[in-house]
Amino acid sequence: MQDPTREAAFAVLSAVLDHRRTLDEALEALPRLAARDRAAAHRLAAAVLRRLGSLDAAIEPMLGRAPPIAVRHVLRLGAAGLLLLGTPAHAAVATAVALVRTQRLAPFAGLVNAVLRRLAATGEGALAGLDGPRLDTPAWLWRAWGPEARAIATAHQEEAPLDLTLAAGAVAPEGGVELPSGTWRYPPGTRVTDLPGFAEGGFWVQDAAAALPARLLAPATGMRVLDLCAAPGGKTAQCAAAGARVTAVERDPARLDRLRENLTRLRLPADLVCADATQWQPPAAADAVLLDAPCSATGTIRRHPDIPHLKRPRDLPPLILQQDRLLDAACAALRPGGRLLYAVCSLLAEEGPARAAAALARLPLDTDPVRPEELPDLAAALTPEGWVRTTPALWAERGGMDGFFLARFNRR
Ligand code: SAM
Repeated sequence: MQDPTREAAFAVLSAVLDHRRTLDEALEALPRLAARDRAAAHRLAAAVLRRLGSLDAAIEPMLGRAPPIAVRHVLRLGAAGLLLLGTPAHAAVATAVALVRTQRLAPFAGLVNAVLRRLAATGEGALAGLDGPRLDTPAWLWRAWGPEARAIATAHQEEAPLDLTLAAGAVAPEGGVELPSGTWRYPPGTRVTDLPGFAEGGFWVQDAAAALPARLLAPATGMRVLDLCAAPGGKTAQCAAAGARVTAVERDPARLDRLRENLTRLRLPADLVCADATQWQPPAAADAVLLDAPCSATGTIRRHPDIPHLKRPRDLPPLILQQDRLLDAACAALRPGGRLLYAVCSLLAEEGPARAAAALARLPLDTDPVRPEELPDLAAALTPEGWVRTTPALWAERGGMDGFFLARFNRR
């Protein structure tokens, strides 16, 4: 391989856009690669996916006839280097021309050379006049987000920071800031495994919004807590760290292995069960259930810029059915008076407020409204029903947060 980074980025882009693989799957499928090259390929491919609409709009006027899709990918990678990542013009053009040759598309080397030279001459101004948030967001998501669409899509233009939850008594690695919710935040691109204290289990990766569900469940010493959709275990870890007796249920054996590894590193105890939570029955009724249900993950687009290119409206009905079934199982597993926390990392009303309202109508549950003092400096996330809805546009000046919907209930 002459340029492992760009060849890998090309393979990843093609896997996501042409073969509908997730970004994580595409990265896993890469051949053996030095860690630095892999990280650089990830960053480049993610930059293209995040700003695909804008990059295409900048390239389009310079094309005559539509080139083959592989040539378009090469142009997108070159343009992302030039316009987003600060790659020097000569390097961006030369590596793109070399890449198009290695993809057996040598007849297009002249086109790639000409288009990227013109883009390099325009510089970052090539994106300046474009409506990036709109161009980089699929129409169905833009519509679904209503009046908040522009603020959410604007937040998606930037890479997310690295957020950590600290183990009790652990000291935060240098270079971070503590957010009002207790999460520690580090600049985008920080690698958690490089931080001192990682191997010793001092902290785990968890977005500021993702840390809220377990905090609002308020697990305490000795409480019997069920975490029904548990892997990779960020919320299991929070509950176990609070002294609760946690049973973590996860359907996917490979993801359960990851959860086990994470808890081992963190030296936190939990009973692990590999099962479908809609079928599994706990040996005894629980004091509290945390249900972080599978969903469209549209709240995590900053961290997973492949999502807008992979998810479609028709993916929603089976997810909604599963969310309702999991809510049924969660309620059935609770003792009377027990607490249920429903969470989804989704920005779609069908998976959030609509599921909470349907659960209230169907199940012996009452809303246990979240109080403003439980959300320091985050009153904007509280809904009139006492539910919580975060979006990437909240705490924008601090680097935003994932989009989550949370509802807390008590079993009658
Ligand atoms: N709570 C986790 C955390 O904080 O790290 C993230 C959970 S993720 C949103 C949803 C998880 O639920 C996935 O690992 C998925 O494999 C699992 N899952 C999906 N359907 C399930 C089911 N019916 N029973 C158990 N686990 C399920």
